[in-house]
Amino acid sequence: MSINPQVLSLTKSATLKITALTKQIKKQGKDVVNFAAGEPDFDTPDFIKTAAKEAIDQGFTKYTPSSGDNRLKEAIANKLKVNNGICLDKENVIVTSGAKYALFIALLSLLSVDDQVLIPSPYWVSYPEMAKLTLGKAKFIDLAEENNFKLTPELLNNSITKKTKVLIFNYPSNPTGVTYSKKELIDISKVIKDANIYVVSDEIYETLVYDKKSHISFASLDSMQDKTLTVGGFSKSFAMTGWRVGYLAANKDLVKEISKIVGHTTSCPCSISQAAALAALGDNKWQSQVGLKFEARRDLLYQGLSNTPKVKPFKSEGTFYMFCDIRETGLSSFEFCSRLLEEELVSCIPASSFGKEGFIRISFSTSLKQIKKGIDRINNFIKKL
Ligand code: PMP
Ligand code: GLU
Repeated sequence: MSINPQVLSLTKSATLKITALTKQIKKQGKDVVNFAAGEPDFDTPDFIKTAAKEAIDQGFTKYTPSSGDNRLKEAIANKLKVNNGICLDKENVIVTSGAKYALFIALLSLLSVDDQVLIPSPYWVSYPEMAKLTLGKAKFIDLAEENNFKLTPELLNNSITKKTKVLIFNYPSNPTGVTYSKKELIDISKVIKDANIYVVSDEIYETLVYDKKSHISFASLDSMQDKTLTVGGFSKSFAMTGWRVGYLAANKDLVKEISKIVGHTTSCPCSISQAAALAALGDNKWQSQVGLKFEARRDLLYQGLSNTPKVKPFKSEGTFYMFCDIRETGLSSFEFCSRLLEEELVSCIPASSFGKEGFIRISFSTSLKQIKKGIDRINNFIKKL
């Protein structure tokens, strides 16, 4: 039996693997602090669950159009118009089975043989693996620590070649938590304009931005709408990771083509989850309350780790992740995370999975009490080294 070498070359998702392992340890009754979680610890709000139950009772249980239920597409287009300043309508939108699938079909549809996709590094774990499943080739842009791991116009410009077709741009960033000001984004957009490449803008953490900053969508910038494929979703913003709903917004010609991929692969996203997502868009109270809770958690974690020897945290501007430099411990990120889990029952993600050695990702998607406990345990661990 021979398996497609591209599939053989895939690595398992480290984030999903470690999160599953942490849940398993917890189930065994062990008091593990989950700093690995890539999902909100809050339950999906009741008003969303109710909408899903009603959808079942009303028989909304059949295929929807491949690109998604029309009412939901309209609501997403309206949200993008009102909240994000992107002028579009429902024909610009495809609802997908999670934002992950939106990213994958965006790349699949754009990348032809040997086309280059630029991936700023540290990157989210799935981008390089998705690129492997297309005909394109990943090229990494090393982001400088001195510049808080931000993409700059110079770095971008120096990375673009004749073969470059796409930039994957993710902000607020998983794993570093950095985000960009309007001025920084405009400067990057000028490079994009001249280079004539597409931007797959992964804005799934758009609602989790702190310090009274606001999120600016890349497609809302001058001349960027036609060049940008905006990816968003419900997993992080409404604690709906298991429901699997995301979306892609792009120009209408692209959307028409990409919808064909959906029609032949997933058919459409789950109808019941789409009804739930529609209800979610009717509310913004829940989100702002949750945003404040995450900000308080970030502050506690940052303060605690700033006083921890040999660990240097980067203050996240968004997401629920904090990137930490652990090079002073002399351990690799994998050794650090394995030993921390074994010896102190704290799970984190080694940044080697994000293309960066010597760093770890700590998720603050857990209670203040757990965060305090986790900081104490990390301090114990460091003392013993
Ligand atoms: N993009 C980033 C940066 C992520 O961290 C994730 C993880 N959930 C996704 C996309 C995919 O989200 P979804 O669960 O909606 O597929
Ligand atoms: N995106 C989350 C994370 O980075 C969830 C797991 C995954 O989809 O990778 O941890």
